[in-house]
Amino acid sequence: MKIIDRLKEDRIHISFEVFPPKTDETYDKVVSAVDEMAELRPAFISVTYGAGGGTSRNTVRIASHIKDDLHVLSLAHLTCASSTKAEVRTVIENLKELGIENILALRGDIPEGMTFPDADRFRYAFELVEEIRRHGDFCIGGACYPEGHVENEHKADDIRYLKQKVDSGVDFLTTQMFFDNDIHYNFLYRIREAGITVPVLPGIMPITSASQMKKSQELSGTMFPRRFLAILDRFGSSPKAMKQAGIAYATDQIIDLLANGVKNIHIYTMNKPDVAAAIMSNLSEIIKV
Ligand code: FAD
Repeated sequence: MKIIDRLKEDRIHISFEVFPPKTDETYDKVVSAVDEMAELRPAFISVTYGAGGGTSRNTVRIASHIKDDLHVLSLAHLTCASSTKAEVRTVIENLKELGIENILALRGDIPEGMTFPDADRFRYAFELVEEIRRHGDFCIGGACYPEGHVENEHKADDIRYLKQKVDSGVDFLTTQMFFDNDIHYNFLYRIREAGITVPVLPGIMPITSASQMKKSQELSGTMFPRRFLAILDRFGSSPKAMKQAGIAYATDQIIDLLANGVKNIHIYTMNKPDVAAAIMSNLSEIIKV
């Protein structure tokens, strides 16, 4: 089944993101976390894609396990910056053979020392979207950035390029993490005004430790509102308290989104089934409404 068809159902959908192991030694641990998460019956589970080697192979393996063994919709991420066009085509064909219908098409971060343009690589995600479309009848997702992508000085450029990406064949978008819902509402208003009409899944990252907050900020450049910083200041040095407060903060963000009419939400689980379960438990009655 295609994710876009699931999103068309008039009900709330909560989906999860997991990341594959970097080495084969930790494969079983990741799979058992994924198995636990599948029991929470998410709308789908997405699997991130690393740059080359074992990580990318494991993305396909885990996405396949989710679909075939756990009977949950899976979304395989695929990046293009760190692979040649031929390598990317091989992965797409592999996904097709395995019956994985849903791909999140990403550029990925540009490897250090690489200079674009490079005739042998796709330069932007929209080119990857066009390539995937050429290979078959996939449901294709794309990434978007409520606070703007770090490489763009002006948000207007970001939205212009996002429109180009969607027009090249994107069925739905998933956002980068954000911690102030007003930023998301403002972004939605701007992209709808720009004529982007596909479903947008806000990406919610439960921050359960001070170190995770630091990493998230480095990775995404996201802004942490004062309300969150106060939580970190008060509870950051107590792991159990910070975990509970982080789960509560993410739950609160989700409830606010749902109360404002958002129907589809993606949770960056960081491979922690207990965190995903705690959030789902906090929402148990809410998602039935
Ligand atoms: P693009 O859409 O290609 O955009 C990249 C930059 O180029 C933007 O600044 C954009 O505005 C600009 N741009 C686009 N088109 C044009 C154009 N025609 N001319 C000029 N400029 C243009 N990374 C991973 O490595 N693995 C993952 O699994 C992964 N999953 C992610 C999931 C989500 C939901 C998100 C939000 C991000 C994810 N990332 C992942 C990170 C992502 O790869 C990086 O943020 C990357 O820098 C941009 O990828 P993109 O697909 O958004 O690129």
